[in-house]
Amino acid sequence: MDLGLKEKVAIVTGGSRGIGRAAVKALLREGASVMVSSLRRESVEAAVRELAPSGKVAGAPCDVAVEADVVRLVEETVRRFGRLDVMVANAGIADPYRNLAETSAEDWDRMIAVHLRGTFLCGREAARAMRAAKIPGRIVTLSSTSAYECDPLGGSYNAAKAGIVGLTRSMAIDFAEWGIRVNSVAPGWIHTDMSTQDLPPRGTPIEGLGALPRAGEPEEVAAAIVFLASNACDYITGTTLFVDGGQTIVAPKMRW
Ligand code: NDP
Repeated sequence: MDLGLKEKVAIVTGGSRGIGRAAVKALLREGASVMVSSLRRESVEAAVRELAPSGKVAGAPCDVAVEADVVRLVEETVRRFGRLDVMVANAGIADPYRNLAETSAEDWDRMIAVHLRGTFLCGREAARAMRAAKIPGRIVTLSSTSAYECDPLGGSYNAAKAGIVGLTRSMAIDFAEWGIRVNSVAPGWIHTDMSTQDLPPRGTPIEGLGALPRAGEPEEVAAAIVFLASNACDYITGTTLFVDGGQTIVAPKMRW
């Protein structure tokens, strides 16, 4: 099936590692050109070196919480590749996990800034570039099952991810008049640097986690990101697609 991504240009924030890097690879496989972005320059450079044989890829560091960085990232992408069709607002942090009673205002602000402000800035700048070029683009955000089922001690993360679900819906409404569609992917537990220390080794069944008793792989989330970035979902906007092995559909045993 042709997903319509050939000759398209995408930005993936947090594209250096984990889910973002898998999304970059999947987009390159579909023939898109990709700007890989993440916080640290050395991380971006390592990813670009690794991915360069797979297709047209460039890199630019950007702290998604900093407005000037995001503006520059979108400008640089359009200068380099001539257009912008897809924004994958994926960058994220998980630490620190702490009881909200012990959470400092600085830690709260950083969590909300990276996730919620970052997703807003990436969505806004992408929409402005798409509107100016009359491109009916796609924006894909990364929420989480944590937006729906709260991780204990993850108060600021849970709140940020729930905010992203609402923001995705609002961007879908606000950007619809320019043909831009905005959707979110909500992963459950996925094997990446962010979560591996909390998971048993790959291949160990995790009973009770969800309908499928295992954590997911970054490539399984990337497939959903590519779908929502493609022409295959022309009539889908403002939705959140769970990629969680059925984690959110199984009631805890105590409720049976
Ligand atoms: P990783 O920890 O593997 O990678 C995080 C990425 O985000 C890195 O590329 C990192 O860049 C980048 N990053 C961190 N802070 C910033 C910042 N301020 N500006 C720009 N880039 C930044 O994360 P995952 O791949 O696991 O997660 C990707 C997304 O999926 C996140 O939004 C996460 O919350 C979400 N998610 C993950 C789940 C999981 O189980 N893994 C579950 C549900 C949601 P650098 O390499 O330069 O440090």
